[in-house]
Amino acid sequence: MSKEDYEIVMGLEVHAELSTKTKIFCSCPTEFGGEPNTHCCPVCMAMPGTLPVLNEKVVEYAIKAGLATNCEIARNSKNDRKNYFYPDLPKAYQISQFDMPLCEKGYVEITNKNEEKKKVRLTRIHIEEDAGKLNHDDYGRGSLVDLNRAGVPLIEIVSEPDLRSAEEAEMYLRKVKSILEYIEVSDCKMQEGSLRADVNVSVRKRGQAEYGTRTEMKNMNSFRSIVRAIEYESNRQIEVLEEGGKIDQETLRWDDVSGKTFSMRDKEDAQDYRYFPDPDLALIKMSEEYIENIKKSLPELPESRKKRYIEEIGLPEYDANLITASKHLSNLFEKASEICGNYKAVSNFIMTDITKFLNEKELEPDQIPFSGEELGNLIILIDKGTISTSIAKKVLAVLFEAPEDPMKIVEKNGWLQISDEGAIKEVVLKIIEQNQQSVTDYKAGKKQALGYLVGQAMKETKGKANPGMLNKMFMEELEK
Ligand code: ADP
Ligand code: ZN
Ligand code: MG
Repeated sequence: MSKEDYEIVMGLEVHAELSTKTKIFCSCPTEFGGEPNTHCCPVCMAMPGTLPVLNEKVVEYAIKAGLATNCEIARNSKNDRKNYFYPDLPKAYQISQFDMPLCEKGYVEITNKNEEKKKVRLTRIHIEEDAGKLNHDDYGRGSLVDLNRAGVPLIEIVSEPDLRSAEEAEMYLRKVKSILEYIEVSDCKMQEGSLRADVNVSVRKRGQAEYGTRTEMKNMNSFRSIVRAIEYESNRQIEVLEEGGKIDQETLRWDDVSGKTFSMRDKEDAQDYRYFPDPDLALIKMSEEYIENIKKSLPELPESRKKRYIEEIGLPEYDANLITASKHLSNLFEKASEICGNYKAVSNFIMTDITKFLNEKELEPDQIPFSGEELGNLIILIDKGTISTSIAKKVLAVLFEAPEDPMKIVEKNGWLQISDEGAIKEVVLKIIEQNQQSVTDYKAGKKQALGYLVGQAMKETKGKANPGMLNKMFMEELEK
């Protein structure tokens, strides 16, 4: 059998650090970084005799996430202890949620490349505390624990095993990230670890009803590694099965450098954790009114923005999808359009020049350094003919490096468009003089020679000549 005879099955457990000011069970700051062990207190350092107090904002943020992903919200919930040897969590248990999570049975809709929609079901969303971090000592003397991150609130979003390709897994994670950014419950900075995913992968023969045994790759925090890891791990499993072997249910570590997975430990089952209700914490009871108020406070979600862009502004679905996929990009679009009043021009510029730039530099939309105002002003300069579209590309490159008002960039670099008839005529005559062959070709009926001449004139003026005027004047001269 070959690879094509197998189907990949995946479910993701996404951990997102919540952007509350304080930790989940104490009043320490959640701020990233800081000198080791400066953002902690006896509670999050797990001193015996201390008592946790649940931060209400954590519950609110988790419910927001649940509402934004179509979950049922519990009216009664609780915290449980998950017992385990955690070298970076001195309590030796993590306060999490077991059988009464805050949110259950939701879904996230993704749209694949063929514009097909698919609902990825969510099993649950629960709250829990993050662990600290081990810093491995430079001198090989051991590891030092930093508890700044211990007690930072997390939500864990568990999906059903509904994903069927690395591409779908990536789309799903991008969608979850986008939703959490829209509702402002997490900054989702993957490079800082505030959004990370455990990726569960199994394979089965096509047509087979039951799932295969899964392996789990922990704490993946880049889209690229996730895609690579899924491809590697699914191929590895297929090879094992093809050779008559069987898959061990285990936890794996993905190594980005070698591009391979390594076994970390056998997988624990729920009973290994000896979950039990945390006796130090009260039950969480939520009234209808409480949930209703949170619902009212939800900002506009990507789906609704997308609909608005398609129906009210007339953007193509593809464009609306791409722009709303990132809250940052969507905000940029809205602000720029408001400034220049030309939605279509802004979306075209985003879909072509900005997207191309992001792809080339491997940047994510939230790394765009310029403001919607600056983008809007750039579009105004193009619309008014102050600069040509080729100069606009150069201004964009500067905006990515050192953002400031586009007009200032244009002035500093002497990029104003030449729209002076006399100046344009001078260039046209010069180019005609230098390209007599093209003139002869044009007169012999090879109309594409005109494009060549315009191109030469553009080159001569370093992209600054007004293309409409160039065209017109060349025609006039050639038809003489
Ligand atoms: P645990 O905490 O033990 O990993 P969870 O129930 O929290 O268990 O998460 C299990 C994850 O693994 C879910 O996302 C689920 O969709 C996924 N999963 C379960 N079975 C399979 C399977 N056979 N193949 C791929 N993914 C699976
Ligand atoms: Zn603390
Ligand atoms: Mg897991």
